[in-house]
Amino acid sequence: MKGCLYKPMKLIFLGPPGSGKGTQAKMIAEKFSLAHISMGDILRQEIKEATEVGKEASSYLKNGLLVPDDVVNKMAAKAVERSAEKGFVLDGYPRTKYQAEFLSKVTGIDKVIYIDVPQEEIVKRLTGRLSCRKCGAVYHVEHKPPKKAGVCDVCGGELYTRDDDKKETIVKRFEVYNSETKPLVDYYGGKIAKINGTGGLNEVLERIKTSL
Ligand code: AMP
Repeated sequence: MKGCLYKPMKLIFLGPPGSGKGTQAKMIAEKFSLAHISMGDILRQEIKEATEVGKEASSYLKNGLLVPDDVVNKMAAKAVERSAEKGFVLDGYPRTKYQAEFLSKVTGIDKVIYIDVPQEEIVKRLTGRLSCRKCGAVYHVEHKPPKKAGVCDVCGGELYTRDDDKKETIVKRFEVYNSETKPLVDYYGGKIAKINGTGGLNEVLERIKTSL
Protein backbone atom coordinates (compact mmCIF):
# COMPACT_ATOMS: atom_id res chain seq x y z
CA MET A 1 0.00 0.00 0.00
CA LYS A 2 2.76 2.43 0.96
CA GLY A 3 4.14 4.19 -2.09
CA CYS A 4 0.90 3.70 -4.04
CA LEU A 5 -0.08 7.27 -3.22
CA TYR A 6 2.71 8.51 -5.48
CA LYS A 7 2.37 5.96 -8.20
CA PRO A 8 0.07 6.73 -11.15
CA MET A 9 -1.86 3.45 -11.03
CA LYS A 10 -3.88 2.26 -14.00
CA LEU A 11 -6.93 0.39 -12.76
CA ILE A 12 -10.07 -1.16 -14.20
CA PHE A 13 -13.22 -1.64 -12.12
CA LEU A 14 -15.30 -4.57 -13.26
CA GLY A 15 -18.57 -5.84 -11.84
CA PRO A 16 -22.27 -6.40 -12.55
CA PRO A 17 -24.61 -3.43 -12.84
CA GLY A 18 -25.41 -2.21 -9.33
CA SER A 19 -22.35 -3.80 -7.72
CA GLY A 20 -21.31 -0.38 -6.44
CA LYS A 21 -18.34 -0.22 -8.80
CA GLY A 22 -19.10 3.38 -9.82
CA THR A 23 -19.21 4.62 -6.23
CA GLN A 24 -16.09 2.68 -5.25
CA ALA A 25 -14.21 3.71 -8.40
CA LYS A 26 -14.93 7.37 -7.61
CA MET A 27 -13.71 7.01 -4.00
CA ILE A 28 -10.52 5.18 -5.01
CA ALA A 29 -9.79 7.76 -7.73
CA GLU A 30 -10.13 10.56 -5.18
CA LYS A 31 -8.05 8.82 -2.55
CA PHE A 32 -5.15 8.13 -4.94
CA SER A 33 -5.50 11.29 -7.09
CA LEU A 34 -6.34 9.31 -10.21
CA ALA A 35 -8.67 10.35 -13.03
CA HIS A 36 -12.09 8.71 -12.77
CA ILE A 37 -13.18 7.64 -16.25
CA SER A 38 -16.78 6.42 -16.22
CA MET A 39 -17.97 5.34 -19.66
CA GLY A 40 -21.60 5.49 -18.51
CA ASP A 41 -21.14 9.11 -17.35
CA ILE A 42 -19.39 10.04 -20.60
CA LEU A 43 -22.25 8.56 -22.62
CA ARG A 44 -24.96 10.22 -20.49
CA GLN A 45 -23.19 13.57 -20.94
CA GLU A 46 -23.10 13.06 -24.73
CA ILE A 47 -26.83 12.27 -24.65
CA LYS A 48 -27.56 15.37 -22.55
CA GLU A 49 -25.66 17.53 -25.03
CA ALA A 50 -27.40 15.79 -27.96
CA THR A 51 -24.09 15.22 -29.79
CA GLU A 52 -23.84 12.77 -32.71
CA VAL A 53 -22.48 10.11 -30.33
CA GLY A 54 -25.24 10.92 -27.83
CA LYS A 55 -27.96 10.48 -30.45
CA GLU A 56 -26.50 7.14 -31.50
CA ALA A 57 -26.03 5.90 -27.92
CA SER A 58 -29.37 6.93 -26.47
CA SER A 59 -31.53 3.94 -27.43
CA TYR A 60 -28.84 1.44 -26.36
CA LEU A 61 -28.74 2.92 -22.86
CA LYS A 62 -32.53 3.03 -22.58
CA ASN A 63 -32.77 -0.65 -23.48
CA GLY A 64 -29.90 -1.88 -21.33
CA LEU A 65 -27.80 -2.80 -24.37
CA LEU A 66 -24.15 -2.10 -25.02
CA VAL A 67 -23.24 0.83 -27.24
CA PRO A 68 -21.23 -0.45 -30.25
CA ASP A 69 -17.57 -1.16 -29.45
CA ASP A 70 -16.15 1.25 -32.02
CA VAL A 71 -18.04 4.18 -30.51
CA VAL A 72 -16.92 3.59 -26.93
CA ASN A 73 -13.39 2.58 -27.93
CA LYS A 74 -12.74 5.96 -29.50
CA MET A 75 -13.95 7.82 -26.44
CA ALA A 76 -12.05 5.56 -24.05
CA ALA A 77 -8.80 6.03 -25.99
CA LYS A 78 -9.13 9.82 -25.78
CA ALA A 79 -9.86 9.76 -22.04
CA VAL A 80 -7.05 7.30 -21.28
CA GLU A 81 -4.48 9.26 -23.29
CA ARG A 82 -5.47 12.46 -21.47
CA SER A 83 -4.93 10.78 -18.08
CA ALA A 84 -1.92 8.61 -18.86
CA GLU A 85 0.45 10.61 -16.65
CA LYS A 86 -1.88 11.03 -13.72
CA GLY A 87 -3.10 7.43 -13.75
CA PHE A 88 -6.76 6.45 -13.92
CA VAL A 89 -9.63 4.30 -12.77
CA LEU A 90 -11.63 2.94 -15.69
CA ASP A 91 -15.21 2.41 -14.56
CA GLY A 92 -17.50 0.45 -16.89
CA TYR A 93 -14.91 0.03 -19.62
CA PRO A 94 -13.96 -2.38 -21.10
CA ARG A 95 -17.22 -4.35 -21.17
CA THR A 96 -16.47 -6.76 -24.01
CA LYS A 97 -13.47 -8.83 -25.03
CA TYR A 98 -13.12 -6.75 -28.17
CA GLN A 99 -12.93 -3.56 -26.05
CA ALA A 100 -10.34 -5.18 -23.77
CA GLU A 101 -8.20 -6.13 -26.76
CA PHE A 102 -8.48 -2.60 -28.12
CA LEU A 103 -7.52 -1.14 -24.73
CA SER A 104 -4.43 -3.35 -24.54
CA LYS A 105 -3.11 -1.57 -27.64
CA VAL A 106 -3.66 1.85 -26.02
CA THR A 107 -2.32 1.28 -22.50
CA GLY A 108 -1.06 -1.23 -19.95
CA ILE A 109 -3.15 -1.96 -16.85
CA ASP A 110 -1.83 -2.57 -13.33
CA LYS A 111 -4.84 -4.24 -11.74
CA VAL A 112 -8.47 -5.14 -12.36
CA ILE A 113 -10.76 -4.78 -9.36
CA TYR A 114 -13.64 -7.23 -9.78
CA ILE A 115 -16.50 -6.47 -7.41
CA ASP A 116 -18.55 -9.58 -6.85
CA VAL A 117 -22.16 -9.33 -5.59
CA PRO A 118 -24.87 -12.04 -5.88
CA GLN A 119 -27.58 -11.31 -8.45
CA GLU A 120 -30.54 -11.35 -5.98
CA GLU A 121 -28.84 -8.70 -3.86
CA ILE A 122 -28.27 -6.55 -6.94
CA VAL A 123 -31.86 -6.63 -8.15
CA LYS A 124 -32.91 -5.39 -4.69
CA ARG A 125 -30.37 -2.57 -4.82
CA LEU A 126 -31.07 -1.41 -8.36
CA THR A 127 -34.83 -1.24 -8.14
CA GLY A 128 -34.61 1.57 -5.56
CA ARG A 129 -31.76 3.51 -7.10
CA LEU A 130 -32.04 7.25 -7.66
CA SER A 131 -29.52 9.41 -9.51
CA CYS A 132 -28.97 13.16 -9.56
CA ARG A 133 -29.59 14.76 -12.94
CA LYS A 134 -26.98 17.42 -12.27
CA CYS A 135 -23.96 15.81 -10.56
CA GLY A 136 -24.63 12.07 -10.96
CA ALA A 137 -24.62 11.33 -7.19
CA VAL A 138 -26.39 8.05 -6.44
CA TYR A 139 -28.97 7.35 -3.69
CA HIS A 140 -31.27 4.50 -2.71
CA VAL A 141 -34.83 4.89 -1.49
CA GLU A 142 -34.21 2.47 1.38
CA HIS A 143 -30.47 2.13 2.01
CA LYS A 144 -29.25 5.66 1.28
CA PRO A 145 -32.18 8.07 1.08
CA PRO A 146 -31.48 11.76 0.40
CA LYS A 147 -32.16 14.18 3.29
CA LYS A 148 -35.01 15.72 1.32
CA ALA A 149 -37.07 13.46 -0.98
CA GLY A 150 -36.26 14.01 -4.65
CA VAL A 151 -33.42 16.46 -4.00
CA CYS A 152 -29.66 15.79 -4.17
CA ASP A 153 -27.81 16.36 -0.86
CA VAL A 154 -24.65 17.34 -2.72
CA CYS A 155 -25.82 19.91 -5.27
CA GLY A 156 -29.59 20.36 -4.82
CA GLY A 157 -30.25 18.79 -8.26
CA GLU A 158 -33.33 16.74 -9.10
CA LEU A 159 -33.24 12.98 -8.37
CA TYR A 160 -34.66 10.53 -10.90
CA THR A 161 -34.74 6.83 -11.80
CA ARG A 162 -32.46 6.20 -14.77
CA ASP A 163 -34.30 4.53 -17.66
CA ASP A 164 -31.86 1.65 -17.42
CA ASP A 165 -32.69 1.15 -13.72
CA LYS A 166 -36.28 0.15 -14.54
CA LYS A 167 -37.03 -3.52 -13.80
CA GLU A 168 -37.28 -4.89 -17.37
CA THR A 169 -34.06 -3.15 -18.31
CA ILE A 170 -32.24 -4.46 -15.24
CA VAL A 171 -32.92 -8.04 -16.34
CA LYS A 172 -31.59 -7.22 -19.82
CA ARG A 173 -28.48 -5.53 -18.42
CA PHE A 174 -27.79 -8.67 -16.43
CA GLU A 175 -28.01 -10.90 -19.46
CA VAL A 176 -25.64 -8.61 -21.31
CA TYR A 177 -23.25 -8.52 -18.36
CA ASN A 178 -23.18 -12.31 -18.03
CA SER A 179 -22.60 -12.97 -21.71
CA GLU A 180 -20.32 -10.07 -22.69
CA THR A 181 -18.56 -8.65 -19.63
CA LYS A 182 -18.15 -11.49 -17.12
CA PRO A 183 -15.77 -13.40 -19.44
CA LEU A 184 -13.30 -10.54 -18.87
CA VAL A 185 -12.62 -12.00 -15.42
CA ASP A 186 -10.89 -14.90 -17.18
CA TYR A 187 -9.39 -12.63 -19.82
CA TYR A 188 -7.53 -10.57 -17.15
CA GLY A 189 -6.54 -13.69 -15.18
CA GLY A 190 -3.67 -12.82 -12.82
CA LYS A 191 -4.47 -9.09 -12.85
CA ILE A 192 -7.83 -9.68 -11.16
CA ALA A 193 -8.38 -8.78 -7.51
CA LYS A 194 -11.74 -10.31 -6.58
CA ILE A 195 -13.51 -8.21 -3.96
CA ASN A 196 -16.53 -9.22 -1.92
CA GLY A 197 -18.94 -6.39 -2.75
CA THR A 198 -21.54 -7.10 -0.06
CA GLY A 199 -21.75 -5.05 3.13
CA GLY A 200 -21.34 -1.33 3.77
CA LEU A 201 -19.61 1.14 1.44
CA ASN A 202 -16.63 1.61 3.74
CA GLU A 203 -16.22 -2.08 4.36
CA VAL A 204 -15.97 -2.71 0.61
CA LEU A 205 -13.67 0.30 0.19
CA GLU A 206 -11.28 -1.11 2.81
CA ARG A 207 -11.20 -4.45 1.01
CA ILE A 208 -10.28 -2.71 -2.23
CA LYS A 209 -7.56 -0.60 -0.60
CA THR A 210 -6.04 -3.71 0.96
CA SER A 211 -5.88 -5.35 -2.45
CA LEU A 212 -3.93 -2.48 -4.05
P1 AMP B 1 -23.11 2.36 -16.40
O1 AMP B 1 -23.37 3.76 -15.92
O2 AMP B 1 -21.66 1.97 -16.32
O3 AMP B 1 -24.02 1.34 -15.77
O4 AMP B 1 -23.47 2.36 -17.97
C1 AMP B 1 -24.77 2.64 -18.42
C2 AMP B 1 -24.98 2.18 -19.84
O5 AMP B 1 -24.05 2.85 -20.73
C3 AMP B 1 -24.75 0.71 -20.11
O6 AMP B 1 -25.88 -0.08 -19.76
C4 AMP B 1 -24.49 0.72 -21.62
O7 AMP B 1 -25.71 0.91 -22.35
C5 AMP B 1 -23.65 1.97 -21.79
N1 AMP B 1 -22.21 1.70 -21.62
C6 AMP B 1 -21.41 2.09 -20.59
N2 AMP B 1 -20.16 1.63 -20.74
C7 AMP B 1 -20.15 0.94 -21.90
C8 AMP B 1 -19.16 0.19 -22.61
N3 AMP B 1 -17.91 0.04 -22.16
N4 AMP B 1 -19.53 -0.41 -23.77
C9 AMP B 1 -20.77 -0.29 -24.27
N5 AMP B 1 -21.76 0.37 -23.65
C10 AMP B 1 -21.46 0.98 -22.47
